[in-house]
Amino acid sequence: MRKNIVAGNWKMNKTVAETEQLVADLKSKLQDVDNGARVIIAPSFVSLTTAVTAVKGSEIEVAAQNMHQEANGAYTGEVSAEMLKSAGVNTVIIGHSERREYFKESDELLASKVDAVLANGMEVIFCFGETLKDRKLDNQLLEVGSQIKKSLFHLPAEAWKNIVLAYEPVWAIGTGETATPEQAQEMHKFVRRIVSKKYTDELADDISILYGGSVKPNNAKEIFSKPDVDGGLIGGASLKADDFLAIVNGF
Ligand code: PEP
Repeated sequence: MRKNIVAGNWKMNKTVAETEQLVADLKSKLQDVDNGARVIIAPSFVSLTTAVTAVKGSEIEVAAQNMHQEANGAYTGEVSAEMLKSAGVNTVIIGHSERREYFKESDELLASKVDAVLANGMEVIFCFGETLKDRKLDNQLLEVGSQIKKSLFHLPAEAWKNIVLAYEPVWAIGTGETATPEQAQEMHKFVRRIVSKKYTDELADDISILYGGSVKPNNAKEIFSKPDVDGGLIGGASLKADDFLAIVNGF
């Protein structure tokens, strides 16, 4: 069943103490919000257990920003699905454009990360999006279609109940530039169409598709009002409780 979701990607921000503080602020202010949206935060690895403890007694969920695809072994500095699960995390962001760009994560690698998350009974927030160059060449649908097909279309239909999609045009991330609500709607509708072609209309209709890219309190409502936009993946504006909650209030 499709749900509205606002997920905050904290990236490499906030110490453990700052995590505790931000969760406390979010918790107290979220009490006044009751629109049925799922609220997810994704702090850094070192703050995950603190966040999991701090959100207790609220509806806030905790996600990880990344994960290694192998179950365990000699992968210095990496974190596995089982470790995340043992820390109380149920959702993992996979395929963020910063991981694709700075850490050279390929579509194939992302497919194996998706498999590892799902094999551990957790949920994936799968990010995809075109670069400015793709958009200028009017290649955005082709590029996004290719990213989704290569990393997700090997999945059996039943696996999709644990997939959330996040369209994040690379040119709109952290730039202050936002896709127009129409551009977001066009892409989300396209994604639902290719998923429905590969699987079924019902499956495509059930997926939550988030938009990400400079979503702020002043533009969230308009973007979220589009029929195929089911919420947002929020970077910069998720680091301040008031801004994040204003975005949650955008439904
Ligand atoms: C992101 O990194 O997922 C993101 C959408 O960032 P921002 O909101 O800062 O553009």
